[in-house]
Amino acid sequence: MTKRNFNFAAGPAALPTSVLEQAQAELLDWHGKGMSIMEISHRSADYIEVAKQAEQDLRDLLLIPSNYKVLFLQGGASQQFAQIPLNLLAEKQQADYIDTGIWSRKAIDEAKKIANIHVAASGKAYDYFAIPTQDEWQLSKGAAYVHYTSNETIGGVQFDWLPAVADVPLVVDASSDILSRPLDVSKYGVIYAGAQKNIGPSGLVVVIIREDLLGKARTSCPTMLNYQVAAEHDSMFNTPPTFAWYFAGLIFKWLKQQGGLEAIKKINEEKKNVLYTYIDSTEFYINPINPANRSWMNVPFRLIDEKLDKIFLAKAEANGLFNLKGHRSVGGMRASIYNAVTLEAVKALVDFMKTFAKEHG
Ligand SMILES: *Cc1c(COP(=O)(O)O)cnc(C)c1O
Repeated sequence: MTKRNFNFAAGPAALPTSVLEQAQAELLDWHGKGMSIMEISHRSADYIEVAKQAEQDLRDLLLIPSNYKVLFLQGGASQQFAQIPLNLLAEKQQADYIDTGIWSRKAIDEAKKIANIHVAASGKAYDYFAIPTQDEWQLSKGAAYVHYTSNETIGGVQFDWLPAVADVPLVVDASSDILSRPLDVSKYGVIYAGAQKNIGPSGLVVVIIREDLLGKARTSCPTMLNYQVAAEHDSMFNTPPTFAWYFAGLIFKWLKQQGGLEAIKKINEEKKNVLYTYIDSTEFYINPINPANRSWMNVPFRLIDEKLDKIFLAKAEANGLFNLKGHRSVGGMRASIYNAVTLEAVKALVDFMKTFAKEHG
């Protein structure tokens, strides 16, 4: 068997071994066709079946109501930062944004190029170690939508509650926590997520949009960025990222086999508990995030002495634990523990951290 290291990468990130094996087995000969799925037309009956099945499995997992469209687009989550205001905001309208860290600020900066943006709350006063509570939010009257980031992949803060925005459409960047636990889609106007954390390989962004929000794009909105155009063409206005879409479909099937989102939630909860409980039990490692807002998916931590960082990373790799270096803007370490990262991997990390602390404490 091929040796697989424990991979804590933030994105592109670990994929389940069994799914990689299936893609490998199908690579030269997909379903007896004598060619791979990425070598046939996206308009062929075979490919359309693959695409439709992927959408149906995602709908089953998230219990997506029938008045929502599911779009499989390109450009990543970052392109959505522009696409959302172009599609949802009329020229003079304003939108509210919640600033909880680096990704939400990128969304804000991009939207500001296009529209009037009001930052209704910010975690800045907490050094972004906590999410501003709903009573601190200053939502504006008549906002076209409220945008927030459910999990800040770099900062390691995550919403543990659902924002209340009355009948204003709620828009969420769920790139790094989609499919990690159940989500009530009906509470949202738009949910979007880049694929390379919990959905599959990069090159794909999934957009789940309530139908009444289609058809509101500005006349200046480029065709390729118009949600309604994408919806009318079943995300095939032009050639979609066929391999990434196919692979996402395999991931959705795998998630169903795991027992769906309630089952994966239990595993994710245990994984994050094992890691945070250990970090909190020692002075050697520090996670500064407000406990209620700690991310289940991305766990940043610092060593008591940053001079040990390099040795920590080298020894971790020698023990088969990879990609633990924190984001360059934050420093320290970060363990991303998405769906495909097993409890076994997290336990191996904690065992290593214990040994390292003993040797260097
Ligand atoms: C990774 C990430 C992005 C950017 O995704 P791209 O697909 O690289 O554009 C945006 N938001 C969040 C929360 C992310 O984790």
